[in-house]
Amino acid sequence: MAEPIRPERSGQLFERALRSIPGGVNSPVRAFRSVGGTPRFIAKGSGAYLWDVDGRRYLDFVGSWGPLILGHARPEILAALERVMADGTSFGAPTEAEVVLAETILAAFPGMDQVRLVNSGTEATMSAIRLARAHTGRSLLVKFAGCYHGHSDSLLVKAGSGAATLGVPDSLGVTAAVSGQTLILPFNDGEALAEAFAARGGEIAAVIVEPFPGNMGLVLPHPGYLEELRRLTAASGAALIFDEVITGFRVAYGGVQTLYGIEPDLTCLGKIIGGGLPVGAYGGKRELMALLAPEGPVYQAGTLSGNPLAVAAGLTTLRLLQELQPYPELAQRTAAFAAELRALFERAGIPATVNQAESLFTVFFNPGPVVDYESASRSDRERYARFFHAMLERGFYFSPGQFETCFLSTAHGSADLEQALSAVRDALPELGGR
Ligand code: PMP
Repeated sequence: MAEPIRPERSGQLFERALRSIPGGVNSPVRAFRSVGGTPRFIAKGSGAYLWDVDGRRYLDFVGSWGPLILGHARPEILAALERVMADGTSFGAPTEAEVVLAETILAAFPGMDQVRLVNSGTEATMSAIRLARAHTGRSLLVKFAGCYHGHSDSLLVKAGSGAATLGVPDSLGVTAAVSGQTLILPFNDGEALAEAFAARGGEIAAVIVEPFPGNMGLVLPHPGYLEELRRLTAASGAALIFDEVITGFRVAYGGVQTLYGIEPDLTCLGKIIGGGLPVGAYGGKRELMALLAPEGPVYQAGTLSGNPLAVAAGLTTLRLLQELQPYPELAQRTAAFAAELRALFERAGIPATVNQAESLFTVFFNPGPVVDYESASRSDRERYARFFHAMLERGFYFSPGQFETCFLSTAHGSADLEQALSAVRDALPELGGR
């Protein structure tokens, strides 16, 4: 068994942070609440690795929660930032690069006629819903239990991610009037969907979905499920919103909609399109996007929207992805890694399910299948916490929460993954394996 580490500087910084920042962190999952222990304060990242302030190195399976598909501190992105930064960091006026980024995104999403840049995924989903409500003149929003779409009021109902980990299904501060406008359905349940549309189809402004949910841990849609969503929303006049904040440019040069050939009415993006800087975007059919101010009556704005640094990092990332076309290799590498993990847990007699799609994967400690929030919640979270810490001690940084997906980047080489697998093998006795 590896020596338990004493993260001294991280511990000191965390104590200091607790005095000045609520919970010591600027986003809840970073606090390690569900797995326990001291969050590692990060000093730097390079390629597939992170270094904490105590000088420990970790193979990083979080990748800043998705943006870093090319790894940390990719030289081309740093160089683009330096070039752009020399000319100023924000103008509050349009730039050519924003137009190029918009054109680049549209070229990858055939169903999208126009796109608006914002500063986060939260802003993207919140604004897309406003647009859908304006377009349909209806109020009701359908979302799925365990899907997370950022923290705007109407979406903080049965949200996954950190909210699920903390066991706070509904945030205090969200009024009943707002949450009452959100109808929650179980993901992957065709019958519940059909019933909701039969009963209330005429009231539904939009259905918002993570087409590959990543915030209840990774879950995949049953065959035909997304197609059925498209059919029912189209038939009832509701907008279908694909939240591809995680999956956009992650599962393909495009999104899940590219893999499935489905055109939603609106798509939300973030993470990868900002190359590690704060960004979000929402786009869709012209008839919807034309409602946006200054052209139309739906208001949405942002002081830093289209920020030159974020746009430069995003454009460089997308250009590299187009050049490298890393998707088949990333998928193959992640699938092989997931298969090895399954085999290791099985041989050790540990009930586990490893869901994987492209470069996304989640380890659940239950026999599965994990297909929705209910089955994800049956994972043995105490065992997940032990797994997380056993790996962290050995220098492997998995998601510090069960209800999240892990990510591979192009910087994760086969030798790195081999080392991760031997560390898992070494840790099995600590997880109760034989
Ligand atoms: N949608 C999805 C699918 C997400 O995973 C997230 C964040 N992880 C968001 C929206 C919100 O994005 P942000 O944190 O940038 O506000």
